[in-house]
Amino acid sequence: MDITIPQRKDVIKGIKDQGGVVAAVLPIHYSRALLRSFNIYPVEVWGPPKVDESLGGTHLQAYVCSIVHNALSFLKMGGLDIANLILIPHTCDSLQGLASMLMDLINPEQAIIPLYLPRGQREEDVVFLADELRSLYTRFSDFTGKNPTSDDLLAAIKREEMSDLLLTKLYGNRQKIGLNNIDFYRLVRLREFLPAEQFSALAEKALQTTAEPQPGIPIILSGILPEPMEVLNMIDEINGLVVADDLACCGRRLYKPGTSLEPFRRMAESIVYAPPDPTRGNTIEERIKHLAAMAQNSGAKGVIFYEVKFCEPELFDLPNLRAGLKEHGLASIIIEVDINNPLPRQVATRIGAFLEMLAS
Ligand code: SF4
Repeated sequence: MDITIPQRKDVIKGIKDQGGVVAAVLPIHYSRALLRSFNIYPVEVWGPPKVDESLGGTHLQAYVCSIVHNALSFLKMGGLDIANLILIPHTCDSLQGLASMLMDLINPEQAIIPLYLPRGQREEDVVFLADELRSLYTRFSDFTGKNPTSDDLLAAIKREEMSDLLLTKLYGNRQKIGLNNIDFYRLVRLREFLPAEQFSALAEKALQTTAEPQPGIPIILSGILPEPMEVLNMIDEINGLVVADDLACCGRRLYKPGTSLEPFRRMAESIVYAPPDPTRGNTIEERIKHLAAMAQNSGAKGVIFYEVKFCEPELFDLPNLRAGLKEHGLASIIIEVDINNPLPRQVATRIGAFLEMLAS
C-alpha cells in the first residue's frame, strides 16, 4: 500500500506554521472536537517510550507506571516545550497525581488543564461530562480569547466523527488492506496526533486498497498501548496475527457519534458510550462480553494482555477477566513491560509458546 506515514515532528511544525495552538494531551479520553473548535491541535503523549526516566524519577515513586514516569521526564527534558498547554484527563490515580504535582510543585510554563471523567454509562455520567466539557470551554476561551459558536462546535464534532468512522472502517477491513501488524498500528495510531481531516484522507486512501489477507494465528491484543512497537514485528515473526484489539490507545477509542444536537452533550455521549474500558468504570462482566463478542466476530483464538507494569486499572481486572474469558473458551496470557526497556527475548518465547498452544 502506497501511504507515507507522516512524522509527528513534521505534523507539529505544520500546525505551528499555520498559527495553531498545540496541546500535549495525556491518556486516554477527551474531546478532540472541543480543542479543534478553538484552533487547538491535540498531540497525544503516551510516554513517549525510551526517554531518560531519571528526570521524572526524582519526583515519582518507583511503582508509578512508565507512561507517567516518561511523560514527566519528557516534559523536564524540554520535549513538551512545543506545547502551549497540557491537558491531563483524570484517567487513573497516577495521572491525577501527575496533574497535581505539575500544578502545585513543578509549575511548568504551559497551562495545566485537568479533565475529570465520569466512571459509568448512566444518564448522570453524560450530564457530568457535558458539564465538564463546558468548563473546559471556558478555560480554552480564556486561554485563546476565542468563543466558538454552537455551529463551530458542531462542525468540529462532525469532522472528528468522520475520522472516527473511517478509523472503525479500517478496523473492519484490516484483513483486506494488506498491512502487517506494525504497519496497521502505525496507520491507526496517527489518530494520536494527525489532524482529523488529514487522518481521514489517509484512511480513505488505505481503504481503497485490496489485498490478500495476511496469514497467522489470530489473536486479540489488549492493554494500554503496543509499545515498544517492536512487539508487533515480533508477533509477525512468530506467525501471530492481531485481528482485533482492546487497547486503550486504539480499539477502546473507536468512538461512535453522539445523538444529541447539543454539542457538549453530543461530545459527552461519544466518550461515555465508547467500548468498555476499566479506566471509565466498566465492569468486568461488560469487558468479558465485549471481548468474547470481539473474538467471535474476528475469529481470534486467544488474548494477549500486553500490560504496562504497575498499571493498576488494568492489572486489577485481570484475574476475574481471564477466568471469565476462559469460560468462553478464550485462552489468554499476560505480558508486562516497561515502555522504556527493549523487549526481552523471553517475551517472544512466551508469546511463541502461547501461539503454538492456540494452534494445537
Ligand atoms: S498505564 Fe495505567 S497507570 Fe499508567 S497512566 Fe495509563 S492507565 Fe494510568
